[in-house]
Amino acid sequence: MQAKNDIRNINEDELAGFVDESGEKSYRKGQVLDWLWKKGAVSWDEMKNIPSDFRKKLSGKYEIRPLEVAGTEISADGTRKLLFRMHDGNFTEGVLIPSAGRTTACISTQAGCPLKCAFCATGQHGFKRNLDPGEIFDQFILLNRLSAETAGRPLSNLVLMGMGEPFLNISSVLKALGYISSPQYLNFSPSRITVSTIGIPEKIIQAADSQFPYQLALSLHSSIPEVRNEIIPAASRYPLQELQQAMAFFTRKTQKPITVEFLLLKGVNTSLREAESLVKYCSRFSSKINLITYNEVPGLPFKKPAEDEVAQFLAYLKKKNMVATLRRSMGSDISAACGQLANRSKLVK
Ligand code: SF4
Repeated sequence: MQAKNDIRNINEDELAGFVDESGEKSYRKGQVLDWLWKKGAVSWDEMKNIPSDFRKKLSGKYEIRPLEVAGTEISADGTRKLLFRMHDGNFTEGVLIPSAGRTTACISTQAGCPLKCAFCATGQHGFKRNLDPGEIFDQFILLNRLSAETAGRPLSNLVLMGMGEPFLNISSVLKALGYISSPQYLNFSPSRITVSTIGIPEKIIQAADSQFPYQLALSLHSSIPEVRNEIIPAASRYPLQELQQAMAFFTRKTQKPITVEFLLLKGVNTSLREAESLVKYCSRFSSKINLITYNEVPGLPFKKPAEDEVAQFLAYLKKKNMVATLRRSMGSDISAACGQLANRSKLVK
């Protein structure tokens, strides 16, 4: 027997065709979409305004494959890391980060990651597969619910900075974000959604050309080719100059600055030469720089920089009038901080 597809993987035209073939009125399509992408239904039984014989036809052809929360860990700073189990037994992770007046969800776009950045726990555990649109959407729903329960307010920000490189799974990412941000569905402002990438020039240009409504963050971590290629081996395929041109094109076209993420690794990318190079690199496009101090990952050789190393780096950027901040790392005690997601065995119930 042929395996059923998750109904959230099909497009709206296919759903319209199925409604028609089933002899149903065309408005049923809108009702099904509402249940899936507005009310977050995870079973056919919830779809009360859909006649039971049509629900039976739907379930004969399609499945709904919701994410299941397989474990939670809570940091001393209130950050919560959730482990999600998928229908095929693969796992992915999401993080809820509460801070003064806002709650941010960090979600994943892949199970594992094929890019193998040298400092990142996720990259060391290999790549399993791309997430489906529904699996990306469900992380938002589950973390939004958790935010309401634990912080007493819905999510204020969404970042795609968890496991995986979003631009390597862009069709699922755009589909999920489309429903999350559409006024007709979850109506979460696209300006509060940030997609973070290691920087694939061709994809960034395509995004700019297609009026990408979300914020873009570039995980740069070094603007010196030999250093960047060492810590992000996949970056050797995307020359820094080409990436810089793509960033300039994006900011011109969308009129939005790019957040440049710079993870400070002791003795690797904290030199004055790096700071000078970063200023020069970012001068070609509108940017704001986020410095992040590294959280050590067991088994990896990288170390957290000393406070004065970080302070000097930041001071240089400020002296050169760059918009730069030092981002406080959250959740490092539960391996929920940047580059630490992958420690799933501790979480499984
Ligand atoms: S830092 Fe991001 S892109 Fe690099 S391996 Fe980790 S998850 Fe993948």
